[in-house]
Amino acid sequence: MEIKTVGIVGAGQMGNGIAHVFALADFDVVLNDISQDSLDAAMELIGNNLDRQIGRGAITEDDKAATLARIKTTLDLKDVAGTDLVIEAATERESVKQAIFEDLLPHLKPNTILTSNTSSISITRLASRTDRPEKFMGFHFMNPVPIMQLVELIRGIATDEPTYKALLAVVEKLGKTAASAEDFPAFIVNRILMPMINEAVYTLYEGVGSVKSIDESMKLGANHPMGPLELADFIGLDTCLAIMNVLHEGLADTKYRPCPLLTKYVEAGWLGRKTQRGFYDYSGETPTPTR
Ligand code: NAD
Repeated sequence: MEIKTVGIVGAGQMGNGIAHVFALADFDVVLNDISQDSLDAAMELIGNNLDRQIGRGAITEDDKAATLARIKTTLDLKDVAGTDLVIEAATERESVKQAIFEDLLPHLKPNTILTSNTSSISITRLASRTDRPEKFMGFHFMNPVPIMQLVELIRGIATDEPTYKALLAVVEKLGKTAASAEDFPAFIVNRILMPMINEAVYTLYEGVGSVKSIDESMKLGANHPMGPLELADFIGLDTCLAIMNVLHEGLADTKYRPCPLLTKYVEAGWLGRKTQRGFYDYSGETPTPTR
C-alpha cells in the first residue's frame, strides 16, 4: 500500500496547508475545489508560505519550485479519483462531505484509501456510505498545517490494520507525529479545545470580560500562545460552531451547548479571519477587538 499520489478535496485554510506539506515531502498532489478563486488563493498562499520557509533557511528556492510543480489544481472532482490517497478537507458539514464521497465512488481505483480531515464528524458514519469502510480513516491535520506537528489518526469501526499502517507511514514521511484517537465526537484535540473556546465566548457573552481581557488573561495567566477568541477567529467561527453542534448532539450533554453569541456571529457571516471580521476586525493594520 505505498502511497505516492494524493488527492485533496477542498482548498481552503486546511486544504492548502495539506497540499503544501505533501508536495514538499515528494508526493504528487491533485488539489480540487468547487471555486477557482479558492484554488488560486491556495496556490498563492502556498507560494508565500514556502517563501517564509526559505527565509528561515528551512528549504531552498529549488525546493520551492519542485514543491509547486508537484501540485496540480482542478475543478473536476474526477481528477482526484486516480490517486492512492484522498484527503477530504471541504467545509465542515456532513451533507457536503457525504456528497463528495458519493460523487467520487464510481471513479476510484480499487485500492485508493479515503480519508476525511473532519474535526468532529463520525468517521464510521462517513465510511459506511462508501464501498470501502475498511479503507476509510479520519486524518486530522492541525492549523496551520506546515507548522503544527500533530496529526490525529482516527479509525472507524471497520478500518483495517493495513490502512492504519499505511497512514502511519505517511505521517512519518511528512516528518509529523501521529496520535491515535477513537471515533467519538471531535476526537481528542477538539473535544478538549472547543469547549474551552465556547466557554470563552460565554465569558464574553455574560460580560465577565472583554475580548481583550479574556485573551490577555489566557495568554498571560495560563501561558497559552494565543487567546481563545483570537484562536476561534483563526480556526473559523463556522467551524467552531459546527464542532460544538456535533459535540452537543453526539454526546447529548448540555455542557456542550454552543454559546448563542457564537451562533449570532456565524449568522452575521462574521466567521473570523477568513471574512476579515470575527471577535476582532482584521481590515486595518492590526486586529481590533469588536467587543
Ligand atoms: P474553509 O472554509 O477554509 O475551506 C473549505 C473549502 O472547501 C472552501 O475552499 C470551499 O470552496 C471548499 N468546498 C466546499 N464544498 C466543496 C465541494 N463539494 N468540493 C470541493 N471543495 C468544496 O475550511 P477549513 O478551515 O479549511 O476546513 C476544512 C475542513 O478541515 C473541515 O472539515 C474542518 O473541520 C477541518 N479542520 C479545520 C481546522 C481549522 O483550524 N480551520 C483544523 C483542522 C481541521
